[in-house]
Order: sequence, then C-alpha cells, then structure tokens
Amino acid sequence: MLKDFLYPTGRLYCGDKARGIVPFVRQKIEDFHKGGDLVIFLCDSHRKDDREFELFPPHCVEGTAGAEIIDELPVGKEDLVVKKGRYSGFYETDLDAILKRNRISEVEVVGVCTSICVMDTVGGLRNRDYRVRVYSSGVADFDPQFHDFSLKRMEKIYGAQIG
Ligand SMILES: [Zn+2]
Repeated sequence: MLKDFLYPTGRLYCGDKARGIVPFVRQKIEDFHKGGDLVIFLCDSHRKDDREFELFPPHCVEGTAGAEIIDELPVGKEDLVVKKGRYSGFYETDLDAILKRNRISEVEVVGVCTSICVMDTVGGLRNRDYRVRVYSSGVADFDPQFHDFSLKRMEKIYGAQIG
C-alpha cells in the first residue's frame, strides 16, 4: 500500500481498482488494532538500479516518497514494517521469523497486486503451513483477468480462504 502504487501520480500506479480497496484496507487495519492483532506492512523497497526495473518502470526506490505507505492508512506504534526487494514477502526478509516469534498461525492478506506480490506471498505462507485468508475486496490488480485467476488459484492450489 505504497504511494507509487496507490496514487495516480505514483511511478507504477495500479489503477482505480487499487485505489478502491483503500477504505477496506484501512478498516481492516483499524479492526486489527482494536483487537490487539499484529499488523505487518510488507513494503516494496528497491535500489535505484534494481534488476526488477527490467520488467517494470522504476518504483518504490528507497528513500523516495513513492516508497512510503499511503497517508490514508493508520500505521500504529506496534505495527511492523518489513521491506522486501522481490514479489514474495519472504524473499530475503525476516517475515517467517517475525511470524514465528509472534506465534502467528493465521494470516489475513490485503494489498496489491493480486497476481504478483499478494499471490507470491500467499504461496510463501501456505508452503510454511500458515492458514491464510485473502479478502477479495482488499486486493486488486492492474489486470482484471489476472486478478480473477489469482484468487481462484490461491483458493484451489494454495488452499487459501477467499473472503
Ligand atoms: Zn517492486
């Protein structure tokens, strides 16, 4: 939920569907805060010369405004921010250690894009046997067909609950 993806002026704007999930995501975060549940922001973070820019325009470069969490979301003091350089939230991050340390068994996933970072991270979660719920109103994609396919694939192949 970073400025380069969610703001129309961002470097890799994911579209109006993506903007449309912001109120849902905000509500979920507020609910988690109220319930005392752990909120983790998985944030794309790239070096200027990142190889990912062979596939996508430069975005979420470390230290730029585009790499910041959008202003609409309430980031709590207890929340964790995990920076990641690839699609999966597990790639060269402490995510698994964080989940284990906090004795997390079930993870709810929201964000963009459904077919890219969401699906790769959900795959990482399911391969590690975490229970996963993906909110169809809380995820979005550039491509509506990829979005629909990814929700189906995460349900049928990864065994994620789609809500
Ligand atoms: Zn990226």
